[in-house]
Amino acid sequence: AKPIVAIVGRPNVGKSTLFNRLTGGRVAIVEDQPGVTRDRLYRDANWLDREFTVVDTGGLDFGDRENPFSAIIHKQAEAAMEEADVILFLVDGRSGITADDEAVATILRKAKKPVFLVVNKIEDFSQRERYFDFYSLGLGEPIPISASHGMNTGDLLDAVVAVL
Ligand code: GDP
Ligand code: MG
Repeated sequence: AKPIVAIVGRPNVGKSTLFNRLTGGRVAIVEDQPGVTRDRLYRDANWLDREFTVVDTGGLDFGDRENPFSAIIHKQAEAAMEEADVILFLVDGRSGITADDEAVATILRKAKKPVFLVVNKIEDFSQRERYFDFYSLGLGEPIPISASHGMNTGDLLDAVVAVL
């Protein structure tokens, strides 16, 4: 089986956008459709001749309204830690750190697998303070990207395949 790269993070940070970019953009985004039964999405990708499967864990974002949001986040992170070989923890460089980010970080700091802290929505790398703040999550050096523009996603993939 191919190694699994899971994208984890709270809603609206850009998980589906990154997923589509890494996997070729053919997956329909259904997040905005209320009442759709969502699950995790899997799609194959490759970089530098390495093949892997990317998982968008965002299916757990809103799929289960019976549970409090904190429980959903917990479930998402635990599932990723269980099945993934590498975890991409995506945060939003525009909004800064939120309590939900802190909750995910607390779980992922216990992961025994590589976790990359990826700061999305950084379109202008000169505004470095936007992602330097994320050092405080205790997950190493933040990697700035723009999933929608594709900035620095190649460097992110270089780092990912280096640990696969
Ligand atoms: P998800 O809920 O984590 O799957 O997030 P989405 O991929 O659905 O994106 C949430 C919102 O952020 C959408 O409006 C996207 O267009 C926007 N977005 C995603 N990536 C970027 C980015 O790199 N830059 C900017 N400016 N917006 C982004
Ligand atoms: Mg999504």
